[in-house]
Amino acid sequence: MTDYSVSISVNGRDYLWPKRPTVVVCIDGCERAYIDRAVEAGAMPWTARILSEGSDLPADCVVPCFTNPNNLSIVTGQPPSVHGICGNFFYDPASDTEVMMNDPKLLRAGTILAAFQAAGASICVVTAKDKLRKLLGHGLSFGPDGAVCFSAEKCDQTTLAEHGIEDARAFLDCPVPEVYSADLSEVVFKAGVALLKQKRYDIVYLSTTDYIQHKHAPGDPVANDFYRMMDSYWAELDALGATVVLTADHGMTPMHNPDGTPHVVYLQTILDEMLGENRARVILPITDPYVVHHGALGGFATAYMPEETDLADLCAKLRALDGIEWVGTGAEGCARFELPEDRMGDIIVISAATTAVGSSPERHDLSSLKEPLRSHGGLSTQAVPMILNRKLRGLDAGLQVRNFDAFDLGLNRAIVEG
Ligand SMILES: [Zn+2]
Repeated sequence: MTDYSVSISVNGRDYLWPKRPTVVVCIDGCERAYIDRAVEAGAMPWTARILSEGSDLPADCVVPCFTNPNNLSIVTGQPPSVHGICGNFFYDPASDTEVMMNDPKLLRAGTILAAFQAAGASICVVTAKDKLRKLLGHGLSFGPDGAVCFSAEKCDQTTLAEHGIEDARAFLDCPVPEVYSADLSEVVFKAGVALLKQKRYDIVYLSTTDYIQHKHAPGDPVANDFYRMMDSYWAELDALGATVVLTADHGMTPMHNPDGTPHVVYLQTILDEMLGENRARVILPITDPYVVHHGALGGFATAYMPEETDLADLCAKLRALDGIEWVGTGAEGCARFELPEDRMGDIIVISAATTAVGSSPERHDLSSLKEPLRSHGGLSTQAVPMILNRKLRGLDAGLQVRNFDAFDLGLNRAIVEG
């Protein structure tokens, strides 16, 4: 008999043992309007019902509104100041290198997933891109009766020892999806449903890619089709008896001029003009190897400054520029946005809605950007959905829900019959 009164403590928060399989879905780049427009178009019949019969709360993601910091916040239940992953990319002054934040050695907190596995729960994680797999799977053990954790991108390269499943592609009986495609996310859900049919996993975490949202606005027929696809899989997860929690890593906003060209404040160029060439080092934490759909342009930048810089004066000058929403010192930004000070620069700059903050024009390859720029990162993309197929109990009125409350809501507050 499972003792459902057991609670597991992770990073200072307690989580009850799941009575039903609990599936947390991180819909990459899910600005709320995508769901609303698709529901209005009749493309999401299951979601339309759940919005009234389940729970629908406004939530905030963590700033910077990027993929890695938010996925890691959701699976640790804490902001980046605790888990350490504050971008897809950061500058390490100690080694004077710019480093991708994909390596689990950069993670400073354990995950809810690993803690539940250590207590005997069965865990399944499927992510679209392989860049997140090692971070999300950190601390899980694999092999017979171990966890399953793999990416749709590399579903043909999985082994029992490293991913908990031998040849996931053969199990799913589908082709390996293109990395820049809607199919990449569909394989995530296909796998989630197939694995849950095969075994009643206690906890499932599914994380998609925002390829469609970068290219298509809410209500666009392609976007509606994408949401129709997701809705059909969520209905299947629901029919399998799972508690389904839907949230997002960040929203998505247009960042282009009326003629379709990107609308960008180039921060390195501005700092070069103010201080001399390359005296400052601008870091764009959106940067990752998959730049085709955003050209490394987003809404958040940090910069390392020469030692003698008067930071207060510099911040005041930058605040006066068009297209800038928030500027502060590293310490101010880290306090406000709950970020690790040792992985942020001397200043933090957030662009206004509909504006991107870039480095300098020659450092962005925009040749593969085929559609007008849509991206994320700053305060205008912080609002995300939090939708459950259950009613909730014990929520304080006026509480600002965060996306990293997803497991708290699903495990501790969702009302499950039977
Ligand atoms: Zn994302």
